[in-house]
Amino acid sequence: MHPKGQEEALAFDEREWGDLPPLGEDPSRTYRLGIMGGTFDPIHHGHLVAAEQAFDDLNLDVVVFMPAGRPAFKQNKKVTSGEDRYAMTLLATADNPHFTASRFEVDREGVTYTADTLELLRALYPANVELYFITGADAIADVVRWKDAGRIGANAKLVGATRPGYDLARAQEAIEESPYTFDVTYLEVPALAISSSYLRERVMAGQSLRYLTPDQVTGYIHKHGLYGASGGRYGQARR
Ligand code: NAP
Repeated sequence: MHPKGQEEALAFDEREWGDLPPLGEDPSRTYRLGIMGGTFDPIHHGHLVAAEQAFDDLNLDVVVFMPAGRPAFKQNKKVTSGEDRYAMTLLATADNPHFTASRFEVDREGVTYTADTLELLRALYPANVELYFITGADAIADVVRWKDAGRIGANAKLVGATRPGYDLARAQEAIEESPYTFDVTYLEVPALAISSSYLRERVMAGQSLRYLTPDQVTGYIHKHGLYGASGGRYGQARR
């Protein structure tokens, strides 16, 4: 027979963490796990600053960047492969000790719904780990209409990142009028003036991404010819 408490420790060790951070080992304290959800097509400094701000303001233990798998809502839009979006996310987060990138959604078969992701994470992590789902405030306004919205509110607290001056009324009204309960925190992030679509347009036009996203991400985009980039064009003298 195991001494008292040892069964719990074994159960903790036997969890299948995959590339997710093991968290919750000490039952006497509460842990806070940030899940940064986005398409990240591509990831940029706005996302990174938002996650760092959430880490500080909400006292998170770690932030997992989780590129969306096959997004339910973008079935008719061209989205860069999960493999490329994950690789760029990994490069962008590699040097921050409290950031990590996960394949949790990109490796999942079929359409990936946030409700399913959060339910799987809730089952994996012990009860002393609180889940914080961080995403753009536009997405938070829509969350009430997502599949199984009630389960999302039950399993995680929500964090909506906005740029200064963003009108929160739509998101707040949608949340208030919803029959489900959501715990939402809004964060104002000046760097979110940067957007993925702006980066894609700049690549298409042969313009630099310097200071908009980490150089490693820019290198990956050009090496793999994403967003209409031509490998040789970047870094060469203008003609
Ligand atoms: P989106 O509609 O493309 O983005 C909405 C806005 O939020 C954009 O301005 C976007 O800027 C920004 N944004 C996105 N992720 C962000 C983040 N983590 N931090 C700060 N700003 C962010 O939304 P999306 O990126 O495709 O999806 C956001 C998350 O919601 C994903 O995890 C997705 O799986 C989930 N989602 C789930 C469902 C569902 O389950 N039915 C439906 C929709 C979305 P950028 O374009 O610059 O990123």
